[in-house]
Amino acid sequence: MSDAFLSAISERRYLIPFRSQLLPSIFTDTLVIGSGVAGLRAALAAAEHGEAIVAAKDELDLSNTAWAQGGIAATIAADDSADAHAADTLEAGAGLCAGQAVRALVEEGPREVERLIELGMRFDREPGGALSLTREGGHGRRRIVHSDGDATGRELARTLIAACRATPRVRLFDRCFVLDLITAGSAPRGKDRVLGAVTYHARHGLQLIWARATIVASGGMGQLWRETTNSRIATGDGIAMAWRAGAEVADLEFEQFHPTALYVAGAGRSLISEAVRGEGAFLVDRAGRRFMVGRHPLAELAPRDVVSRGIVEHLASTQEPNVFLDARHLGADGFRTRFPGLHRLLAGFGIDPATVLIPVMPAAHYTIGGVSTDADGRTSVPGLFACGETAANGLHGANRLASNSLLEGLVFGRRAGDAAATSGGEARGDIRVVSDIRPSDKGELDLVDVRSSLRSAMWRNVGIVRAGNRLADALDMIQFWGRYSLDKIFDAPSGWEIQNMLSCATLATVAALAREESRGTHVRSDFPAQRPEFALRRIYGAALAAPRTVAVAPAHAVTTAPAEIGA
Ligand SMILES: Cc1cc2nc3c(=O)[nH]c(=O)nc-3n(C[C@H](O)[C@H](O)[C@H](O)COP(=O)(O)OP(=O)(O)OC[C@H]3O[C@@H](n4cnc5c(N)ncnc54)[C@H](O)[C@@H]3O)c2cc1C
Repeated sequence: MSDAFLSAISERRYLIPFRSQLLPSIFTDTLVIGSGVAGLRAALAAAEHGEAIVAAKDELDLSNTAWAQGGIAATIAADDSADAHAADTLEAGAGLCAGQAVRALVEEGPREVERLIELGMRFDREPGGALSLTREGGHGRRRIVHSDGDATGRELARTLIAACRATPRVRLFDRCFVLDLITAGSAPRGKDRVLGAVTYHARHGLQLIWARATIVASGGMGQLWRETTNSRIATGDGIAMAWRAGAEVADLEFEQFHPTALYVAGAGRSLISEAVRGEGAFLVDRAGRRFMVGRHPLAELAPRDVVSRGIVEHLASTQEPNVFLDARHLGADGFRTRFPGLHRLLAGFGIDPATVLIPVMPAAHYTIGGVSTDADGRTSVPGLFACGETAANGLHGANRLASNSLLEGLVFGRRAGDAAATSGGEARGDIRVVSDIRPSDKGELDLVDVRSSLRSAMWRNVGIVRAGNRLADALDMIQFWGRYSLDKIFDAPSGWEIQNMLSCATLATVAALAREESRGTHVRSDFPAQRPEFALRRIYGAALAAPRTVAVAPAHAVTTAPAEIGA
């Protein structure tokens, strides 16, 4: 695999042609791309030092954040500790967690939850008033706070959007699609200082937002897979635009597949929260057999990669399309009270969890990799920061522990917001930025078809269990679609999203091909074992075929001497 072969995703600096002096300009101190937990928390932190703009490509509350169900992990119980939370995070991360990021998460997390309570977030409580704590896969104890049973994300988004609205220094722009980060230079992957972004709004058209510092918090790329729990916004835009601006990316071979998405033919794959298993539901097959028992000491509550793989292998051996969750022991009132949103969702498909089994299968869920950062969200490009699901700071290693990602958004959103707003850049509207793109003379592909074919190919070949030959086939297909799509000039988000998805698919598949071992969420049938020589994170920069590697802190170093992480 040569870099020339992979050049399609690295040839273009911008998705569209433009001249900065001909576009309307807006100025701010910190531009935040994304209105999920990471972006909103970053904006609140940045607003302590200056002005901030949050741009979101859809409604402000359309995000994976708003869809989150289970809750936020934090050490609140008297018998819990930061060390215990760190130990569970490291265990899930399969040897690749970056110590400094883990330490920041577990130590700063409880304060972030307190802050949400100060901002008015309503968490579920026990009759005596204490926060109600549930347990999820991979956690050694109950430490997940939640809201409205299974609607934690909705309440979190409401709280943070209200807090931003109440902060005069934060401006919220909804339906504002960010196409590209702007830099003074126009060379592809130029690594010049990021000066803001070029945006598109259906009513206002193209605009430039110039900023002293820019934070990408645009979520993950779960839409790359046909089966996904993610909202439609998760098309990897931020990762792709940061790549075009020259930022390094890391860990993209690690996509977490959630074991239990609702399997109703023709319907979207809605998540059935891990908390349902946390409350004692079993995974069974059509014959009622608990096939996870004997595969892992925690059975259904094993880490997600183990359970997803257990399901896929069981389905392969039984030739059945799905498995089931048995939550009947919770009874009619138990399920409805604890999981009101899920109860409504299931009722819509005529499924009463008190009397029948819930059909489920795994689906893409969380993007572990992304734009490579340090623990303050700094990327390899000056003026550019990243946080939340877009970023890869090594926190999750090779596998994310359940309910650690909302907490990640809070802790690292705050850190990135602080670091960006105090980084000392200038908002330079006086620089002329020119993007010239020659019209393509190649044939056109049907975009709707490319999108669905790409998602099917990713699910089949870059899914839960991978093999070198199938990854290579996937890369061929992605390159083919890329050749006829990445050279085009589109004028609407649907086209720009496909260009971003093709770029992210290339990066993820290249990384998956290079990791010739099985570790965490990345399982290779041709390399079924974990290999000590691969206990390294790979950072992809200019030469895709030659990533640099970063050693990670050994687990025992986490409580003593944090190691340098990221780029
Ligand atoms: C169904 C579901 C349930 C989950 N449950 C939990 C849970 O219980 N606990 C937990 O810890 N985690 C959970 N997760 C994971 C967690 O919700 C996400 O990892 C987290 O919310 C990501 O936050 P974020 O701020 O990084 O991105 P998101 O919340 O995904 O927000 C991304 C933002 O970026 C914007 N954006 C994207 N592209 C562009 C663009 N080109 N221009 C402008 N804006 C753009 C979007 O509009 C959106 O505002 C769940 C995920 C899903 C899908």
